[in-house]
Amino acid sequence: MDMLETLKKITQEVNAVSDLATALSIIVKRVKSAMVTHVASVYLLDQQQNCYRLMATEGLNQAAVGKVTLEYAQGLVGQVGLREEPINLENAADHPSYRYFEETGEERYHAFLGVPIMHRRKLLGVLVVQQEESRCFDQSEEAFLVTLSAQLAGVIAHAEVTGLITQLSGSQKVAKCSGIPGSAGIAIGVAVVHSPGVDLSAIPKRMVEAIEEEEMRFLAALQMVRDDIAQAERNFGQSLPKEEGALFDVYLRMLDQHALGGEIVLKIREGYWAQSALAEIINTHIHNFNLLDDPYLKERAMDVKELGIRLLTKLGVSSQIERKYPERTILVGEEVTAALLMEVPRECLVGVVSVRGSANSHLAIVARSMGIPTVVGALDLPVLQLEGRELIVDGYRGEIISNPNREMRQQYEQMVLRDQSLQAELQQVRDQEAVMLGGHKIGLWLNTGLVTDASLLLDQSVEGVGLYRTEMAFMLRDRFPSEKEQEVIYRRQLEAFAPRPVNMRTLDIGGDKVLSYFPIYEENPFLGWRGIRVTLDHPEIFMVQIRAMLKASVGLNNLRIMLPMISTVFEVEEALRLIHRSFVEVSEEGFDIVMPSVGAMIEVPAAVYQILEIATRVDFISVGTNDLTQYMLAVDRNNPRVANLYHSYHPAVLKALQIIINAARAVGKPSSVCGEMAGDPVGALLLVAMGYDALSMSAAHLLKVKWLLRKISFAQAQSILREVLAMDNAQVIHSHLELLLAKQGLDGLLGPM
Ligand code: PEP
Ligand code: MG
Repeated sequence: MDMLETLKKITQEVNAVSDLATALSIIVKRVKSAMVTHVASVYLLDQQQNCYRLMATEGLNQAAVGKVTLEYAQGLVGQVGLREEPINLENAADHPSYRYFEETGEERYHAFLGVPIMHRRKLLGVLVVQQEESRCFDQSEEAFLVTLSAQLAGVIAHAEVTGLITQLSGSQKVAKCSGIPGSAGIAIGVAVVHSPGVDLSAIPKRMVEAIEEEEMRFLAALQMVRDDIAQAERNFGQSLPKEEGALFDVYLRMLDQHALGGEIVLKIREGYWAQSALAEIINTHIHNFNLLDDPYLKERAMDVKELGIRLLTKLGVSSQIERKYPERTILVGEEVTAALLMEVPRECLVGVVSVRGSANSHLAIVARSMGIPTVVGALDLPVLQLEGRELIVDGYRGEIISNPNREMRQQYEQMVLRDQSLQAELQQVRDQEAVMLGGHKIGLWLNTGLVTDASLLLDQSVEGVGLYRTEMAFMLRDRFPSEKEQEVIYRRQLEAFAPRPVNMRTLDIGGDKVLSYFPIYEENPFLGWRGIRVTLDHPEIFMVQIRAMLKASVGLNNLRIMLPMISTVFEVEEALRLIHRSFVEVSEEGFDIVMPSVGAMIEVPAAVYQILEIATRVDFISVGTNDLTQYMLAVDRNNPRVANLYHSYHPAVLKALQIIINAARAVGKPSSVCGEMAGDPVGALLLVAMGYDALSMSAAHLLKVKWLLRKISFAQAQSILREVLAMDNAQVIHSHLELLLAKQGLDGLLGPM
């Protein structure tokens, strides 16, 4: 078998197990045999004790497993870890760092190759192979071990957390998993796992009480699938060649009480939810078939999967309806979307955890605007094991804790109380003016549209809506809303804020915002068909939306229109042409409307460099820092793997923001910022110092921003900006700001790095 095939097989096999010990023992077994060596071992780094522990071995004395430990920098293993690179030695004992442990019985082995196991820049441990003869492992062997280690690191990290979580019932061990802070705050509640559609590998392990009902439900689904197959056989059986025709019989036999069907029923009788029982049995069979080298038997894995999916589909219909959410629901999922969040009744939802996503994904933005503590990008979270477990979501540090002990629980309850008192303090600036020390006035605007309930904070200092995201109304339906439906929705929004202006953004779909009824499949959705690009290609969608906005504004006249994702002047001109056309049409239909101001969003670097050309064509400019940061830094705002590179305080982003405001002011066009940076108190401070005099943010951030701005003078803000602009990297800028605020007793207000 070639290397790639071997690698793939080992990774697959290890991936299929959920506990660390089994995963590691498979790794050492397979590595030893694939590399034809005498010893393969895994040492894992114990962060708390600061030592390596022998966790699995093939070749060394089994009694040493779990017992032999090495201090952090000790021995050859320690050297591999310290250097974070492979060490390949002909004779290990010759190396000055060599340490011999009697209990392992390793004195016989001369050749040594150790490679670090790195996961997201963190050292997890060291993978070692040894051989009796003195010899150097060759380049291809070294490459094999390095590749394998890189592939397995994620699996090991995942198995570590999963293992802890599955052992938890009864034990006192706390399991922790880290992600990215998505929305600040602490939530203590019960996990409800979202499983999308019919994916066999994404079914949560759930127990039920009504076992008999569950069995009946499964048997009904089984019968439906049998009927479907029998029907298909009647339809096609005669016309198919004999071999293909026989497949129907194979399927029917597999579903038999003595085969898969029976196994699943037995599992259900153990108390499992039908879907969980089904997934477990089917996945085990698929896994076993896949381990075989026989291509014919591998094909059978596909058959089992096909049947599993059919059964799951039949079961799915009946389970949608019965979803109940506990009082303190923590919604957990592989990819929780903003729309999914809306499915949980607001009064039950206390926290959210998503494996995918990053601090500026739309999910995080929605969660922040709703004030729901959220962790995103929790890549190692064993989602399917969490159903029904008590969890703590720490939205400040980006951590999820399962099975908290009493001490920990108390500590978090304390934090909840502290948050409540900070909120109370912030309430003091409610209805006060957004004026800096010394009198400089800032316009504070709201971002709306993501949350369905309109119980928005109507602080008297709010000047209007700086960004109304229209896409939510589209996302919550199963078809495009009609002109009349849109008109009603927009009217409600315009009325709620009149006479204050409302900036309505035209439909901004694509990227991570998809409509189920208008799917867009792309390799690079953030560089693809997004925002204005979609709507200009579909003027019928665009015009209907503009017409609805115009009609909704009759008598209120507080509408302003904003265009997302502008990257060329042509897009601005084309959009303006369509808006004017709609204006004429709607006026001719007899509606008494006034022409709204139209603004362009600056979210793409190209638009920064053409800011003058764009600004002269529109009435105002609104900067979307979320996308601008993503595109300036080439960092997908939704990808947790690169989340550590996403910084709105990056010097390049700050410089771009300065260029925009300078140009807009030069041509006398009002400009504001409506990305998340405007709602981060320190970001707001920098923006104000640059010259932006209007900031738009979600209601959840308004008081914090106002509170900080009222404590600082414009001159102070400018001097901070000058210092920051002289710095060359985002980390330094972040720590500098942190220190500065702490000195003034204003710490705790800086957003996550
Ligand atoms: C932005 O990109 O900063 C913005 C406000 O738009 P959205 O987050 O909806 O893409
Ligand atoms: Mg945007």
